[in-house]
Amino acid sequence: MTTALGRTVLAFTGHPQIQRLFTETKAGRALSTRFVAGETIDDAIRVARDLNATGATVSLDHLGEHVSERDQAVAARDDYLACLDEIAAAGIEGNISIKLTQLGLGTDDELATASLGALAERAARVGTSVTVDMEESTHTEMTIGIFEKVQAEFGNLGVAIQSYLRRTPADLQRLEAAGGHVRLCKGAYAEPPDLALQSKADVNGAFDALLGRLMASERLTPAIATHDATRIGLAQLLGADRHSHWEFQMLYGVRTKLQSQLLGDGYRLRIYVPYGQAWYPYLTRRLAERPANLWFFLRALLGR
Ligand SMILES: Cc1cc2nc3c(=O)[nH]c(=O)nc-3n(C[C@H](O)[C@H](O)[C@H](O)COP(=O)(O)OP(=O)(O)OC[C@H]3O[C@@H](n4cnc5c(N)ncnc54)[C@H](O)[C@@H]3O)c2cc1C
Repeated sequence: MTTALGRTVLAFTGHPQIQRLFTETKAGRALSTRFVAGETIDDAIRVARDLNATGATVSLDHLGEHVSERDQAVAARDDYLACLDEIAAAGIEGNISIKLTQLGLGTDDELATASLGALAERAARVGTSVTVDMEESTHTEMTIGIFEKVQAEFGNLGVAIQSYLRRTPADLQRLEAAGGHVRLCKGAYAEPPDLALQSKADVNGAFDALLGRLMASERLTPAIATHDATRIGLAQLLGADRHSHWEFQMLYGVRTKLQSQLLGDGYRLRIYVPYGQAWYPYLTRRLAERPANLWFFLRALLGR
C-alpha cells in the first residue's frame, strides 16, 4: 500500500530528471541491484538457481509495463516464451509473473489475451504456471476478465488481488469459479479514496479478512505475498488447518532474514525475481513502500 509519504516518493521519482539520476548514476544502478536480479535472463537464472538451493521456488518477472507499440508487446511475449524455455532447460523450480500491460493491454487487448494464452500453453508444456500481476485499478476489470478466459482454457494460471481495493472482496468471490492460484498482496500503486482504502489499518484489516477466506477456499490455492510479520503470523495460524497446498511469496531483496527463517521452519516460499532493463518503475514502487530505502541511495550518491 502507498502511504502519504509513499505517494510523495512516487510523484518525486516520476519526474524525468530524477529518473535520470537513478538510471544514469552508479548509485542508482547499485540500488537497483538490491531488488533486481540483473538485466539479462542469465542473471535471473543464476539468482533463481541460488534461491532454489536455499529451498525457495521463484517467479521470474521480465520487467516492463505499459508498452505503447504492438511490436514491443510481441517482443515481451517472445521474451517470456524464451524465459519459460530457460526455466525448463536449467531445471529451475519456478514459474513466471507477467503484467498484461506489457503484453499489450490498453493498446491491443486481443493481442494481450492471445499472448497470455501462448504463455499458458508453453508453461503447461514445461510443467509450470503463469501468475498475472495486478496493476493500476484502471486495468483491474480487464485483467480479471482476461485471466478468467485464459484460465478456462489452460487451467495453469494464477492472478494477484490487492487488499487495498474496495472491489476485491467481490473479485475473490468471482475468482472461486475460475480456480487457480491467487496471490494476495496489499497493493503497490497510488489509488484514489473512492476506489481504495487509504489507511494502513484498513488495508491490513481487509488483508486479514481476505486471507481468512482464501485459506478456507477449496478451489483456490493461496499465495500469501507480504513481508508484514503480523500478516505472516495470521497466515501461519490459518494455514495450519488448511488441507492442501499454499505458499508464502516475497520480493527478491526484501527481508531476506525473514525469508530464511520461514524456509528453516519448513514453509513453502516463492521469491519474486525481477530482471531486465526496464527496472525503474519497479524500483520506484519499492522505494514508495519503504521511503527509508531512498536514504541508501542518497548516501551512495553523495559518496558516503
Ligand atoms: C511476491 C509479491 C508479489 C507482488 N505482486 C504485486 C502485484 O501484482 N500488484 C501489486 O499491486 N503489488 C504487488 N506486490 C506488492 C505489495 O502489494 C506491497 O506493495 C508490498 O509487498 C509491501 O507490502 P507488505 O505486505 O510487505 O507490507 P508493508 O506493511 O508495506 O511492509 C511490511 C514490512 O516489510 C518490509 N518491507 C516492505 N516493503 C519493503 C521494501 N520495498 N523495501 C524494504 N523493506 C520492505 C518493511 O520492513 C516493512 O515494515 C507484491 C508483493 C510480493 C511480496
